[in-house]
Amino acid sequence: MSHIEKESASNALKRHFASRVSNQIRVLINAWRRSCEQGLAVSHLNKLIDECEKLVRHSLRFNIHHQHDHALVILEMLNEANNSNQINELQQQALQHAIDRLGQSSLRKTDNNNLEQIPKPKPVILAVQPDYAAKLSEQFNHFGITSQIAKDNEHFYQLQESIEACAYITDIHFMREHNGLELMSHFVKLKQTDTPIIFITEEESASIEQRLEAQRAGCLRFYVKPAVSQLIRTVERYYSPQPEEPFQVLIVDDSRSQALFCDKTLSKAGMNTHVLTDPMKILDALDEFQPEIIVMDMYMPGCTGTEIASAIRQQSHLIGVPILFLSGEEDIDIQLDAMSQGGDDFLTKPINPDHLVMTVSNRARRARVLNNLIIRDSLTGLFNHTYILDKLKQACRKAKDKQQPLSFAMVDIDFFKKINDNYGHPVGDKVILALSLFLKQRLRSSDSIGRYGGEEFAIILPNTTTEQALSVMNNIRQGFNQLEHSADDKDFHVSFSCGICSLTSNNGNTIIEHADQALYAAKKQGRNNVQIFIE
Ligand code: GH3
Ligand code: MG
Ligand code: MG
Repeated sequence: MSHIEKESASNALKRHFASRVSNQIRVLINAWRRSCEQGLAVSHLNKLIDECEKLVRHSLRFNIHHQHDHALVILEMLNEANNSNQINELQQQALQHAIDRLGQSSLRKTDNNNLEQIPKPKPVILAVQPDYAAKLSEQFNHFGITSQIAKDNEHFYQLQESIEACAYITDIHFMREHNGLELMSHFVKLKQTDTPIIFITEEESASIEQRLEAQRAGCLRFYVKPAVSQLIRTVERYYSPQPEEPFQVLIVDDSRSQALFCDKTLSKAGMNTHVLTDPMKILDALDEFQPEIIVMDMYMPGCTGTEIASAIRQQSHLIGVPILFLSGEEDIDIQLDAMSQGGDDFLTKPINPDHLVMTVSNRARRARVLNNLIIRDSLTGLFNHTYILDKLKQACRKAKDKQQPLSFAMVDIDFFKKINDNYGHPVGDKVILALSLFLKQRLRSSDSIGRYGGEEFAIILPNTTTEQALSVMNNIRQGFNQLEHSADDKDFHVSFSCGICSLTSNNGNTIIEHADQALYAAKKQGRNNVQIFIE
Protein backbone atom coordinates (compact mmCIF):
# COMPACT_ATOMS: atom_id res chain seq x y z
CA MET A 1 0.00 0.00 0.00
CA SER A 2 1.43 3.37 -0.96
CA HIS A 3 1.59 6.19 1.52
CA ILE A 4 -1.31 8.00 -0.16
CA GLU A 5 -3.50 4.90 -0.20
CA LYS A 6 -2.79 4.32 3.48
CA GLU A 7 -3.68 7.89 4.26
CA SER A 8 -7.00 7.76 2.45
CA ALA A 9 -7.94 4.39 3.95
CA SER A 10 -7.38 5.76 7.41
CA ASN A 11 -9.37 8.89 6.52
CA ALA A 12 -12.23 6.75 5.28
CA LEU A 13 -12.16 4.82 8.53
CA LYS A 14 -12.15 8.04 10.54
CA ARG A 15 -15.13 9.31 8.61
CA HIS A 16 -16.94 6.05 9.17
CA PHE A 17 -16.40 6.25 12.93
CA ALA A 18 -17.27 9.93 13.05
CA SER A 19 -20.61 9.24 11.44
CA ARG A 20 -21.37 6.42 13.92
CA VAL A 21 -20.84 8.95 16.68
CA SER A 22 -22.88 11.67 15.00
CA ASN A 23 -25.76 9.22 14.51
CA GLN A 24 -25.77 8.54 18.21
CA ILE A 25 -25.68 12.27 18.96
CA ARG A 26 -28.85 12.69 16.92
CA VAL A 27 -30.52 9.86 18.79
CA LEU A 28 -29.67 11.46 22.12
CA ILE A 29 -30.76 14.96 21.08
CA ASN A 30 -33.98 13.55 19.74
CA ALA A 31 -34.69 11.66 22.98
CA TRP A 32 -33.95 14.80 24.96
CA ARG A 33 -36.27 16.95 22.88
CA ARG A 34 -39.07 14.41 23.23
CA SER A 35 -38.63 14.19 26.98
CA CYS A 36 -38.82 17.98 27.26
CA GLU A 37 -41.95 18.10 25.14
CA GLN A 38 -43.56 15.59 27.46
CA GLY A 39 -42.56 17.74 30.44
CA LEU A 40 -39.18 16.35 31.45
CA ALA A 41 -39.56 13.98 34.41
CA VAL A 42 -37.43 11.51 36.36
CA SER A 43 -39.08 8.68 34.42
CA HIS A 44 -37.35 9.90 31.25
CA LEU A 45 -33.90 9.75 32.76
CA ASN A 46 -33.24 6.04 32.25
CA LYS A 47 -33.63 6.22 28.49
CA LEU A 48 -31.54 9.39 28.30
CA ILE A 49 -28.79 7.85 30.43
CA ASP A 50 -28.88 4.77 28.27
CA GLU A 51 -28.41 6.74 25.03
CA CYS A 52 -25.80 8.99 26.58
CA GLU A 53 -23.78 6.01 27.81
CA LYS A 54 -23.83 4.62 24.29
CA LEU A 55 -22.46 7.93 23.03
CA VAL A 56 -19.75 7.92 25.68
CA ARG A 57 -18.72 4.42 24.63
CA HIS A 58 -18.78 5.14 20.88
CA SER A 59 -16.85 8.38 21.12
CA LEU A 60 -14.27 6.76 23.39
CA ARG A 61 -13.86 3.74 21.17
CA PHE A 62 -13.58 5.86 18.07
CA ASN A 63 -11.28 8.35 19.70
CA ILE A 64 -13.46 11.40 19.14
CA HIS A 65 -12.37 13.37 22.15
CA HIS A 66 -14.33 16.61 22.04
CA GLN A 67 -17.63 14.77 21.74
CA HIS A 68 -16.59 12.29 24.38
CA ASP A 69 -16.05 15.21 26.77
CA HIS A 70 -19.47 16.71 26.00
CA ALA A 71 -21.12 13.32 26.49
CA LEU A 72 -19.40 12.77 29.85
CA VAL A 73 -20.60 16.13 31.16
CA ILE A 74 -24.17 15.36 30.12
CA LEU A 75 -24.02 11.87 31.57
CA GLU A 76 -22.82 13.22 34.88
CA MET A 77 -25.73 15.68 35.07
CA LEU A 78 -28.24 13.00 34.14
CA ASN A 79 -26.88 10.61 36.77
CA GLU A 80 -26.94 13.32 39.39
CA ALA A 81 -30.61 14.01 38.68
CA ASN A 82 -31.37 10.33 38.67
CA ASN A 83 -29.63 9.70 42.01
CA SER A 84 -31.47 12.55 43.71
CA ASN A 85 -34.67 11.32 42.07
CA GLN A 86 -35.68 14.79 40.95
CA ILE A 87 -34.95 17.25 38.21
CA ASN A 88 -35.38 20.98 38.76
CA GLU A 89 -35.54 23.84 36.31
CA LEU A 90 -31.93 24.81 36.83
CA GLN A 91 -30.76 21.30 36.05
CA GLN A 92 -32.94 21.24 32.97
CA GLN A 93 -31.44 24.51 31.74
CA ALA A 94 -27.90 23.29 32.33
CA LEU A 95 -28.66 20.08 30.48
CA GLN A 96 -30.25 22.00 27.60
CA HIS A 97 -27.13 24.10 27.35
CA ALA A 98 -24.83 21.07 27.36
CA ILE A 99 -26.97 19.31 24.77
CA ASP A 100 -26.99 22.37 22.53
CA ARG A 101 -23.21 22.43 22.71
CA LEU A 102 -23.08 18.75 21.85
CA GLY A 103 -25.37 19.36 18.87
CA GLN A 104 -23.14 22.15 17.62
CA SER A 105 -20.11 19.91 17.89
CA SER A 106 -21.70 17.31 15.67
CA LEU A 107 -20.62 18.17 12.20
CA ARG A 108 -22.17 17.89 8.82
CA LYS A 109 -20.28 15.86 6.32
CA THR A 110 -18.51 17.68 3.56
CA ASP A 111 -16.38 16.40 0.77
CA ASN A 112 -13.06 17.29 2.26
CA ASN A 113 -14.26 16.87 5.82
CA ASN A 114 -12.27 19.87 6.81
CA LEU A 115 -13.47 20.60 10.32
CA GLU A 116 -12.29 24.20 10.34
CA GLN A 117 -14.37 25.22 7.33
CA ILE A 118 -17.77 24.40 8.73
CA PRO A 119 -19.42 27.48 10.21
CA LYS A 120 -21.51 27.06 13.32
CA PRO A 121 -25.13 26.66 12.25
CA LYS A 122 -27.58 29.31 13.36
CA PRO A 123 -31.03 28.42 14.72
CA VAL A 124 -34.38 29.33 13.18
CA ILE A 125 -36.67 31.65 15.15
CA LEU A 126 -40.34 30.65 15.05
CA ALA A 127 -43.13 33.16 15.61
CA VAL A 128 -46.08 30.85 15.06
CA GLN A 129 -48.91 29.31 17.10
CA PRO A 130 -47.56 27.20 20.00
CA ASP A 131 -48.78 23.77 18.86
CA TYR A 132 -47.51 24.34 15.32
CA ALA A 133 -44.22 25.65 16.73
CA ALA A 134 -43.76 22.48 18.77
CA LYS A 135 -44.48 20.33 15.73
CA LEU A 136 -42.12 22.28 13.48
CA SER A 137 -39.31 22.35 15.97
CA GLU A 138 -39.58 18.61 16.46
CA GLN A 139 -39.45 18.00 12.71
CA PHE A 140 -36.51 20.39 12.31
CA ASN A 141 -34.78 18.55 15.07
CA HIS A 142 -34.95 15.33 13.03
CA PHE A 143 -32.74 17.03 10.51
CA GLY A 144 -30.37 18.50 13.02
CA ILE A 145 -31.83 22.00 12.65
CA THR A 146 -32.24 23.84 15.94
CA SER A 147 -34.99 26.36 16.53
CA GLN A 148 -36.19 28.86 19.13
CA ILE A 149 -39.85 29.56 19.74
CA ALA A 150 -41.03 33.14 20.33
CA LYS A 151 -43.91 33.35 22.80
CA ASP A 152 -45.02 36.86 21.79
CA ASN A 153 -43.78 39.99 20.01
CA GLU A 154 -41.62 41.10 22.86
CA HIS A 155 -40.04 37.69 23.21
CA PHE A 156 -39.36 37.66 19.47
CA TYR A 157 -37.38 40.87 19.81
CA GLN A 158 -35.47 39.46 22.76
CA LEU A 159 -34.62 36.27 20.88
CA GLN A 160 -33.42 38.00 17.74
CA GLU A 161 -31.21 40.26 19.90
CA SER A 162 -29.63 37.38 21.80
CA ILE A 163 -29.08 34.90 18.97
CA GLU A 164 -28.13 35.15 15.36
CA ALA A 165 -30.85 33.34 13.41
CA CYS A 166 -30.55 31.71 9.98
CA ALA A 167 -34.22 32.45 9.19
CA TYR A 168 -37.48 33.68 10.72
CA ILE A 169 -40.69 31.75 10.24
CA THR A 170 -43.77 33.80 11.03
CA ASP A 171 -47.46 33.05 10.91
CA ILE A 172 -49.27 35.99 9.32
CA HIS A 173 -51.75 35.74 12.19
CA PHE A 174 -49.23 35.04 14.97
CA MET A 175 -51.19 35.41 18.25
CA ARG A 176 -53.79 37.80 16.73
CA GLU A 177 -55.13 38.51 13.30
CA HIS A 178 -52.43 40.16 11.15
CA ASN A 179 -50.09 40.45 14.09
CA GLY A 180 -47.34 38.39 12.39
CA LEU A 181 -47.35 40.67 9.37
CA GLU A 182 -47.29 43.78 11.52
CA LEU A 183 -44.55 42.39 13.72
CA MET A 184 -42.28 41.66 10.78
CA SER A 185 -43.08 44.95 8.97
CA HIS A 186 -42.10 46.80 12.06
CA PHE A 187 -39.05 44.64 12.65
CA VAL A 188 -37.77 45.01 9.08
CA LYS A 189 -38.14 48.79 9.26
CA LEU A 190 -36.29 48.88 12.53
CA LYS A 191 -33.47 46.44 11.82
CA GLN A 192 -33.03 46.24 8.05
CA THR A 193 -32.20 42.56 8.41
CA ASP A 194 -30.77 40.31 5.71
CA THR A 195 -32.05 37.20 7.45
CA PRO A 196 -34.65 35.43 5.29
CA ILE A 197 -38.24 35.82 6.45
CA ILE A 198 -40.69 33.06 5.65
CA PHE A 199 -44.42 33.59 6.14
CA ILE A 200 -47.02 30.93 6.64
CA THR A 201 -50.77 31.25 6.56
CA GLU A 202 -53.87 29.18 7.26
CA GLU A 203 -55.82 30.13 4.21
CA GLU A 204 -55.99 27.81 1.28
CA SER A 205 -55.58 30.61 -1.20
CA ALA A 206 -53.73 33.55 0.21
CA SER A 207 -54.90 36.72 -1.51
CA ILE A 208 -52.67 38.83 -3.68
CA GLU A 209 -53.06 41.67 -1.16
CA GLN A 210 -51.74 39.45 1.59
CA ARG A 211 -48.83 38.33 -0.53
CA LEU A 212 -47.93 41.88 -1.45
CA GLU A 213 -48.14 42.98 2.14
CA ALA A 214 -45.90 40.06 3.13
CA GLN A 215 -43.42 41.01 0.46
CA ARG A 216 -43.26 44.55 1.78
CA ALA A 217 -42.56 43.10 5.19
CA GLY A 218 -39.45 41.44 3.79
CA CYS A 219 -41.03 38.09 2.93
CA LEU A 220 -38.90 35.68 0.96
CA ARG A 221 -41.21 32.65 0.87
CA PHE A 222 -44.88 32.27 1.49
CA TYR A 223 -46.38 28.89 2.37
CA VAL A 224 -49.83 27.62 3.25
CA LYS A 225 -49.90 25.42 6.35
CA PRO A 226 -48.91 22.71 7.16
CA ALA A 227 -46.07 23.04 4.61
CA VAL A 228 -43.70 21.17 6.93
CA SER A 229 -41.70 19.51 4.18
CA GLN A 230 -41.30 22.71 2.15
CA LEU A 231 -40.20 24.55 5.28
CA ILE A 232 -37.60 21.93 6.10
CA ARG A 233 -36.21 22.11 2.60
CA THR A 234 -36.13 25.88 2.55
CA VAL A 235 -34.62 26.23 5.99
CA GLU A 236 -32.06 23.50 5.33
CA ARG A 237 -30.62 25.75 2.67
CA TYR A 238 -30.07 28.63 5.07
CA TYR A 239 -29.07 26.40 7.94
CA SER A 240 -26.16 24.79 6.17
CA PRO A 241 -25.64 27.12 3.25
CA GLN A 242 -23.70 25.81 0.32
CA PRO A 243 -21.91 28.50 -1.65
CA GLU A 244 -23.38 29.03 -5.12
CA GLU A 245 -21.66 26.65 -7.51
CA PRO A 246 -19.71 28.56 -10.18
CA PHE A 247 -21.54 28.81 -13.51
CA GLN A 248 -20.21 26.63 -16.31
CA VAL A 249 -19.64 28.87 -19.34
CA LEU A 250 -18.59 27.61 -22.75
CA ILE A 251 -16.96 30.29 -24.92
CA VAL A 252 -16.97 29.63 -28.66
CA ASP A 253 -14.92 32.08 -30.71
CA ASP A 254 -12.46 31.51 -33.53
CA SER A 255 -10.55 34.62 -32.54
CA ARG A 256 -8.18 33.57 -29.80
CA SER A 257 -7.75 37.08 -28.44
CA GLN A 258 -11.50 37.70 -28.24
CA ALA A 259 -11.99 34.28 -26.61
CA LEU A 260 -9.28 35.03 -24.07
CA PHE A 261 -10.85 38.36 -23.23
CA CYS A 262 -14.17 36.65 -22.42
CA ASP A 263 -12.38 33.85 -20.63
CA LYS A 264 -10.44 36.23 -18.41
CA THR A 265 -13.40 38.49 -17.68
CA LEU A 266 -15.72 35.64 -16.74
CA SER A 267 -13.14 33.63 -14.78
CA LYS A 268 -12.30 36.72 -12.79
CA ALA A 269 -15.99 36.93 -11.87
CA GLY A 270 -15.75 33.40 -10.44
CA MET A 271 -17.16 31.37 -13.33
CA ASN A 272 -15.84 28.09 -14.71
CA THR A 273 -14.97 28.65 -18.32
CA HIS A 274 -13.98 26.51 -21.24
CA VAL A 275 -12.74 28.01 -24.51
CA LEU A 276 -13.39 26.47 -27.89
CA THR A 277 -11.76 28.09 -30.94
CA ASP A 278 -12.82 25.39 -33.39
CA PRO A 279 -16.63 25.44 -33.62
CA MET A 280 -16.61 22.03 -35.33
CA LYS A 281 -15.68 20.48 -32.00
CA ILE A 282 -18.79 21.85 -30.30
CA LEU A 283 -20.53 18.50 -29.77
CA ASP A 284 -17.65 17.00 -27.79
CA ALA A 285 -17.29 20.18 -25.77
CA LEU A 286 -20.99 20.18 -24.89
CA ASP A 287 -20.78 16.59 -23.81
CA GLU A 288 -17.64 16.88 -21.75
CA PHE A 289 -17.93 20.34 -20.26
CA GLN A 290 -21.72 20.41 -19.78
CA PRO A 291 -22.09 24.18 -19.97
CA GLU A 292 -24.97 26.01 -18.33
CA ILE A 293 -24.62 28.87 -20.81
CA ILE A 294 -22.82 29.37 -24.12
CA VAL A 295 -21.17 32.61 -25.21
CA MET A 296 -20.64 32.44 -28.95
CA ASP A 297 -19.14 34.54 -31.69
CA MET A 298 -21.49 35.28 -34.60
CA TYR A 299 -19.11 34.75 -37.52
CA MET A 300 -16.66 31.89 -37.57
CA PRO A 301 -14.91 30.00 -40.38
CA GLY A 302 -17.06 27.22 -41.84
CA CYS A 303 -20.27 28.23 -40.12
CA THR A 304 -22.16 31.03 -38.44
CA GLY A 305 -23.15 31.23 -34.81
CA THR A 306 -26.82 30.94 -35.73
CA GLU A 307 -26.19 27.67 -37.56
CA ILE A 308 -24.44 26.23 -34.53
CA ALA A 309 -27.27 27.47 -32.31
CA SER A 310 -29.85 25.62 -34.43
CA ALA A 311 -27.74 22.46 -34.30
CA ILE A 312 -27.51 22.72 -30.51
CA ARG A 313 -31.26 23.27 -30.18
CA GLN A 314 -31.96 20.10 -32.15
CA GLN A 315 -30.91 18.15 -29.09
CA SER A 316 -33.80 18.19 -26.68
CA HIS A 317 -31.70 18.11 -23.53
CA LEU A 318 -29.90 21.30 -24.64
CA ILE A 319 -33.02 23.37 -25.27
CA GLY A 320 -32.67 25.06 -21.89
CA VAL A 321 -29.03 26.16 -22.29
CA PRO A 322 -28.96 29.91 -23.02
CA ILE A 323 -26.87 31.06 -25.96
CA LEU A 324 -25.46 34.56 -25.92
CA PHE A 325 -24.11 35.91 -29.21
CA LEU A 326 -21.16 38.26 -29.49
CA SER A 327 -20.59 40.14 -32.65
CA GLY A 328 -19.45 43.39 -34.19
CA GLU A 329 -22.68 43.32 -36.10
CA GLU A 330 -24.80 46.37 -35.61
CA ASP A 331 -27.52 45.44 -38.07
CA ILE A 332 -30.67 44.96 -36.02
CA ASP A 333 -32.23 42.59 -38.62
CA ILE A 334 -29.33 40.17 -38.40
CA GLN A 335 -29.48 40.29 -34.62
CA LEU A 336 -33.20 39.53 -34.66
CA ASP A 337 -32.59 36.68 -37.07
CA ALA A 338 -29.98 35.27 -34.68
CA MET A 339 -32.50 35.37 -31.86
CA SER A 340 -35.13 33.58 -33.88
CA GLN A 341 -32.66 30.78 -34.56
CA GLY A 342 -32.43 29.97 -30.90
CA GLY A 343 -30.13 32.65 -29.54
CA ASP A 344 -31.18 34.24 -26.28
CA ASP A 345 -29.35 37.52 -26.29
CA PHE A 346 -26.99 39.62 -28.32
CA LEU A 347 -23.97 41.61 -27.16
CA THR A 348 -22.23 43.95 -29.54
CA LYS A 349 -18.45 44.18 -29.59
CA PRO A 350 -16.50 45.87 -28.14
CA ILE A 351 -18.06 44.50 -25.00
CA ASN A 352 -18.00 46.20 -21.68
CA PRO A 353 -16.64 43.57 -19.20
CA ASP A 354 -19.17 44.47 -16.48
CA HIS A 355 -21.98 44.17 -18.96
CA LEU A 356 -20.71 40.77 -20.07
CA VAL A 357 -20.49 39.46 -16.51
CA MET A 358 -23.96 40.76 -15.61
CA THR A 359 -25.64 39.37 -18.71
CA VAL A 360 -23.98 35.96 -18.42
CA SER A 361 -24.64 35.55 -14.71
CA ASN A 362 -28.28 36.69 -14.90
CA ARG A 363 -29.01 34.36 -17.79
CA ALA A 364 -27.17 31.45 -16.22
CA ARG A 365 -28.86 31.87 -12.84
CA ARG A 366 -32.30 31.91 -14.40
CA ALA A 367 -31.48 28.90 -16.54
CA ARG A 368 -30.32 27.06 -13.44
CA VAL A 369 -33.60 27.74 -11.64
CA LEU A 370 -35.63 26.58 -14.64
CA ASN A 371 -33.44 23.57 -15.17
CA ASN A 372 -33.86 22.56 -11.54
CA LEU A 373 -37.61 22.55 -12.04
CA ILE A 374 -37.15 20.18 -14.94
CA ILE A 375 -34.62 17.79 -13.49
CA ARG A 376 -35.66 17.68 -9.84
CA ASP A 377 -38.40 15.90 -7.97
CA SER A 378 -40.78 18.37 -6.33
CA LEU A 379 -41.20 16.64 -2.95
CA THR A 380 -37.57 15.93 -2.19
CA GLY A 381 -35.57 18.22 -4.45
CA LEU A 382 -33.53 15.20 -5.52
CA PHE A 383 -32.89 14.42 -9.20
CA ASN A 384 -35.91 12.84 -10.86
CA HIS A 385 -36.06 9.45 -12.56
CA THR A 386 -35.16 10.62 -16.08
CA TYR A 387 -32.31 12.80 -14.95
CA ILE A 388 -30.65 10.30 -12.65
CA LEU A 389 -30.61 7.79 -15.55
CA ASP A 390 -28.95 10.40 -17.80
CA LYS A 391 -26.52 11.16 -15.05
CA LEU A 392 -25.68 7.46 -14.63
CA LYS A 393 -24.82 7.15 -18.32
CA GLN A 394 -22.53 10.18 -18.14
CA ALA A 395 -20.93 8.98 -14.93
CA CYS A 396 -20.25 5.52 -16.37
CA ARG A 397 -18.64 7.06 -19.43
CA LYS A 398 -16.46 9.30 -17.29
CA ALA A 399 -15.46 6.42 -15.01
CA LYS A 400 -14.38 4.36 -18.02
CA ASP A 401 -12.38 7.25 -19.48
CA LYS A 402 -10.62 7.91 -16.24
CA GLN A 403 -10.37 4.22 -15.40
CA GLN A 404 -11.95 4.80 -12.03
CA PRO A 405 -14.37 2.57 -10.16
CA LEU A 406 -18.05 3.52 -9.91
CA SER A 407 -20.86 2.06 -7.83
CA PHE A 408 -24.59 2.36 -8.24
CA ALA A 409 -27.01 1.78 -5.37
CA MET A 410 -30.77 1.28 -5.36
CA VAL A 411 -32.59 1.94 -2.11
CA ASP A 412 -36.18 0.96 -1.30
CA ILE A 413 -37.95 1.72 1.97
CA ASP A 414 -39.15 -1.40 3.77
CA PHE A 415 -42.86 -2.00 4.35
CA PHE A 416 -43.67 1.49 3.18
CA LYS A 417 -47.23 0.55 2.35
CA LYS A 418 -47.77 -0.21 6.03
CA ILE A 419 -46.52 3.25 7.01
CA ASN A 420 -49.08 4.81 4.67
CA ASP A 421 -51.80 2.45 5.88
CA ASN A 422 -51.06 2.94 9.57
CA TYR A 423 -50.32 6.66 9.71
CA GLY A 424 -51.62 8.16 6.47
CA HIS A 425 -50.10 9.36 3.24
CA PRO A 426 -48.73 12.71 4.56
CA VAL A 427 -46.69 10.84 7.17
CA GLY A 428 -45.43 8.56 4.39
CA ASP A 429 -44.34 11.67 2.48
CA LYS A 430 -42.49 12.92 5.54
CA VAL A 431 -40.59 9.65 5.76
CA ILE A 432 -39.60 9.96 2.09
CA LEU A 433 -38.41 13.49 2.77
CA ALA A 434 -36.55 12.39 5.87
CA LEU A 435 -34.67 9.74 3.92
CA SER A 436 -33.85 12.14 1.11
CA LEU A 437 -32.40 14.72 3.49
CA PHE A 438 -30.56 12.01 5.37
CA LEU A 439 -28.96 10.82 2.14
CA LYS A 440 -28.03 14.39 1.18
CA GLN A 441 -26.41 14.97 4.54
CA ARG A 442 -24.46 11.72 4.55
CA LEU A 443 -23.25 11.39 0.99
CA ARG A 444 -20.49 13.39 -0.70
CA SER A 445 -21.50 16.28 -2.92
CA SER A 446 -19.89 14.44 -5.82
CA ASP A 447 -22.42 11.62 -5.40
CA SER A 448 -25.72 11.97 -7.27
CA ILE A 449 -28.98 11.10 -5.56
CA GLY A 450 -32.24 10.58 -7.42
CA ARG A 451 -35.79 9.72 -6.49
CA TYR A 452 -36.22 6.70 -8.71
CA GLY A 453 -39.87 6.09 -7.91
CA GLY A 454 -42.29 6.51 -5.00
CA GLU A 455 -40.18 5.22 -2.14
CA GLU A 456 -37.19 4.16 -4.20
CA PHE A 457 -33.95 6.05 -4.54
CA ALA A 458 -30.99 5.67 -6.90
CA ILE A 459 -27.50 6.75 -5.93
CA ILE A 460 -24.43 7.15 -8.12
CA LEU A 461 -21.15 6.90 -6.25
CA PRO A 462 -18.29 7.92 -8.55
CA ASN A 463 -14.79 6.76 -7.77
CA THR A 464 -16.11 4.26 -5.22
CA THR A 465 -15.40 0.53 -5.11
CA THR A 466 -18.00 -2.07 -4.23
CA GLU A 467 -16.55 -2.51 -0.74
CA GLN A 468 -16.53 1.22 -0.09
CA ALA A 469 -20.11 1.55 -1.36
CA LEU A 470 -21.18 -1.33 0.86
CA SER A 471 -19.66 0.30 3.90
CA VAL A 472 -21.11 3.75 3.13
CA MET A 473 -24.60 2.42 2.45
CA ASN A 474 -24.58 0.16 5.48
CA ASN A 475 -23.59 3.08 7.61
CA ILE A 476 -26.42 5.21 6.23
CA ARG A 477 -28.84 2.32 6.65
CA GLN A 478 -27.97 1.97 10.34
CA GLY A 479 -28.17 5.70 10.93
CA PHE A 480 -31.51 6.07 9.21
CA ASN A 481 -32.93 3.13 11.09
CA GLN A 482 -32.10 4.89 14.38
CA LEU A 483 -34.10 8.00 13.45
CA GLU A 484 -37.35 8.25 15.32
CA HIS A 485 -40.36 9.26 13.25
CA SER A 486 -43.63 10.31 14.73
CA ALA A 487 -47.28 10.34 13.81
CA ASP A 488 -49.78 11.80 16.25
CA ASP A 489 -48.24 10.60 19.47
CA LYS A 490 -46.82 7.31 18.19
CA ASP A 491 -43.12 6.87 17.48
CA PHE A 492 -41.79 4.48 14.93
CA HIS A 493 -38.59 3.52 13.14
CA VAL A 494 -38.17 2.89 9.44
CA SER A 495 -35.61 0.81 7.59
CA PHE A 496 -34.58 0.43 3.99
CA SER A 497 -33.01 -2.26 1.86
CA CYS A 498 -30.29 -1.56 -0.67
CA GLY A 499 -28.74 -3.27 -3.67
CA ILE A 500 -25.34 -2.31 -5.08
CA CYS A 501 -23.76 -3.00 -8.43
CA SER A 502 -20.39 -1.65 -9.51
CA LEU A 503 -19.33 -0.81 -13.04
CA THR A 504 -17.31 -3.47 -14.85
CA SER A 505 -15.99 -3.49 -18.40
CA ASN A 506 -19.19 -5.01 -19.80
CA ASN A 507 -22.17 -4.20 -17.59
CA GLY A 508 -22.81 -0.62 -18.75
CA ASN A 509 -26.33 -1.48 -19.91
CA THR A 510 -27.26 -3.86 -17.13
CA ILE A 511 -25.96 -2.01 -14.09
CA ILE A 512 -29.47 -0.81 -13.09
CA GLU A 513 -31.01 -4.22 -13.56
CA HIS A 514 -28.26 -5.81 -11.51
CA ALA A 515 -28.52 -3.30 -8.69
CA ASP A 516 -32.26 -4.00 -8.71
CA GLN A 517 -31.59 -7.75 -8.45
CA ALA A 518 -29.29 -7.12 -5.50
CA LEU A 519 -32.05 -5.01 -3.93
CA TYR A 520 -34.49 -7.86 -4.43
CA ALA A 521 -32.01 -10.20 -2.74
CA ALA A 522 -31.79 -7.77 0.19
CA LYS A 523 -35.59 -7.82 0.52
CA LYS A 524 -35.54 -11.61 0.43
CA GLN A 525 -32.87 -11.69 3.11
CA GLY A 526 -35.40 -10.11 5.45
CA ARG A 527 -35.01 -6.38 4.60
CA ASN A 528 -32.98 -3.73 6.46
CA ASN A 529 -29.72 -4.86 4.82
CA VAL A 530 -27.42 -4.09 1.89
CA GLN A 531 -26.53 -6.65 -0.78
CA ILE A 532 -23.98 -6.59 -3.58
CA PHE A 533 -24.83 -7.99 -7.00
CA ILE A 534 -23.11 -11.30 -7.59
CA GLU A 535 -23.20 -12.86 -11.08
P1 GH3 B 1 -41.22 -3.72 0.57
O1 GH3 B 1 -40.57 -3.81 1.91
O2 GH3 B 1 -41.28 -5.02 -0.13
O3 GH3 B 1 -40.55 -2.67 -0.26
O4 GH3 B 1 -42.72 -3.27 0.85
P2 GH3 B 1 -43.39 -1.88 0.51
O5 GH3 B 1 -44.69 -1.83 1.20
O6 GH3 B 1 -42.44 -0.78 0.81
O7 GH3 B 1 -43.48 -1.95 -1.06
P3 GH3 B 1 -44.58 -1.65 -2.13
O8 GH3 B 1 -43.78 -1.37 -3.37
O9 GH3 B 1 -45.58 -2.76 -2.18
O10 GH3 B 1 -45.34 -0.34 -1.66
C1 GH3 B 1 -44.86 0.92 -1.90
C2 GH3 B 1 -45.94 1.90 -1.54
O11 GH3 B 1 -45.47 3.23 -1.58
C3 GH3 B 1 -47.12 1.86 -2.47
C4 GH3 B 1 -47.49 3.29 -2.71
O12 GH3 B 1 -48.81 3.55 -2.36
C5 GH3 B 1 -46.57 4.07 -1.81
N1 GH3 B 1 -46.09 5.31 -2.40
C6 GH3 B 1 -45.52 5.48 -3.61
N2 GH3 B 1 -45.18 6.78 -3.79
C7 GH3 B 1 -45.53 7.46 -2.67
C8 GH3 B 1 -45.44 8.83 -2.25
O13 GH3 B 1 -44.95 9.70 -2.95
N3 GH3 B 1 -45.91 9.14 -1.02
C9 GH3 B 1 -46.46 8.20 -0.21
N4 GH3 B 1 -46.89 8.59 0.99
N5 GH3 B 1 -46.58 6.91 -0.57
C10 GH3 B 1 -46.13 6.53 -1.79
MG1 MG C 1 -41.07 -0.18 -3.86
MG1 MG D 1 -40.69 -0.59 -0.36
